[in-house]
Amino acid sequence: MNAVPNSTDWAAVRADFPVLTREVHGKPLIYFDSANTGQKPEAVIAAVDDFYRRHNANVSRAVHALGSEATELYESARSKLARFLNVRGDELVLCSGTTFAINLVAYSWALPRLKAGDAIVLTRMEHHANIVPWQLVAQRTGAVIKVAEIDERGQLDLDQLYSLLTPEVKLLALTHVSNVLGTVNPVREICREARKRGIVTLIDGSQAAPHRPLDIAAIGCDFYAITGHKMSGPTGTGALWARREHLDAMPPFIGGGEMIKEVRFEGTVFADGPRRFEAGTPNIAGFAGLGAAVDYLSALGMANIEAREQALLSRFTDALKQVPGLRIFGEAADKAAVVSFLIEGAHAHDLATLLDLEGVAIRSGHHCAHPLMQHFGVPATCRASLAYYNTFEEIDAFVTALTKVRKLLA
Ligand code: PMP
Repeated sequence: MNAVPNSTDWAAVRADFPVLTREVHGKPLIYFDSANTGQKPEAVIAAVDDFYRRHNANVSRAVHALGSEATELYESARSKLARFLNVRGDELVLCSGTTFAINLVAYSWALPRLKAGDAIVLTRMEHHANIVPWQLVAQRTGAVIKVAEIDERGQLDLDQLYSLLTPEVKLLALTHVSNVLGTVNPVREICREARKRGIVTLIDGSQAAPHRPLDIAAIGCDFYAITGHKMSGPTGTGALWARREHLDAMPPFIGGGEMIKEVRFEGTVFADGPRRFEAGTPNIAGFAGLGAAVDYLSALGMANIEAREQALLSRFTDALKQVPGLRIFGEAADKAAVVSFLIEGAHAHDLATLLDLEGVAIRSGHHCAHPLMQHFGVPATCRASLAYYNTFEEIDAFVTALTKVRKLLA
């Protein structure tokens, strides 16, 4: 694939994704579930395959050729990701994904610091991965959780959010992009306000990193979490970026091999920097794949990907608005290509099940965001989420399928 920004051959890009040529129930697959997990291009699949065929060895421990190659692949994923996110590699902890990354901050940064009387601010639109770890911390420390609410378009009420940032607040943890509403939060401005008040910030970047250019240094947060499988990379890969001052002050969360300088029965001296948080054998093949995914996304250009997805979103939203009885949840001014919806008189799961018979993959359910469902007073929604490898023709075919299914359920 030879990507030239603005003149990208998106049909050629799509052809890089083997799974997209599949049929499901005798119909061409329309994969509109990329917010759940992204599909993988041939280059990523080949990198994982190549690792096991040619380089398979453990990292760091071996001096033999394969061991150095495996270590080189693993470490090059770190440096590629660091460049992609505009951060330093020695501030990037490689881990299994956002869930692990947030738990690492919860156990290693928050648990030793927070105490009764402290507060953590979250938002209404958080994924459970950015709620439950904080509830566990709150239970164990006596800290309380406060919630920033959203307006009718699914945007954060910034005045209310800032009014919550009182001196007891030690941490503000929020998502960059909502996995349900698509809302893009103004994280730079929010982090600036938090910083003025001495509040540490954690951004859940799961749904941002795959879809727009990222400059973590410019955001000005303290922690930023990403997950590789939504970035066209393998499952079980991800990273936590943390300011070096935090990393240096954080005790290890999980102990074992690879994270030490010296172990004696009297005590252990831990490794410096990210390695202190990378105990045990990592997902080396996965990170070889994630390195290839970062190369792939970088070659396409994140601004180019964002523009493509915004064009798809615009067509998709216009088309959905023509479907009688369809309600869209989340119409933020700055929005990623995620559309949650319901159709009057139809259950979300019935819609998704019938759409599956038409070859269409969407998600139905609570999207790991119960508090958001409670806010809207619904148990579930349908969610269609697009990526750069989707097409305008798929959008038209989706709307035709939805119209057919709606009639069956009406
Ligand atoms: N946060 C958000 C906003 C998400 O969309 C997801 C994945 N659905 C996660 C966190 C959790 O990511 P992972 O399961 O890959 O750790």
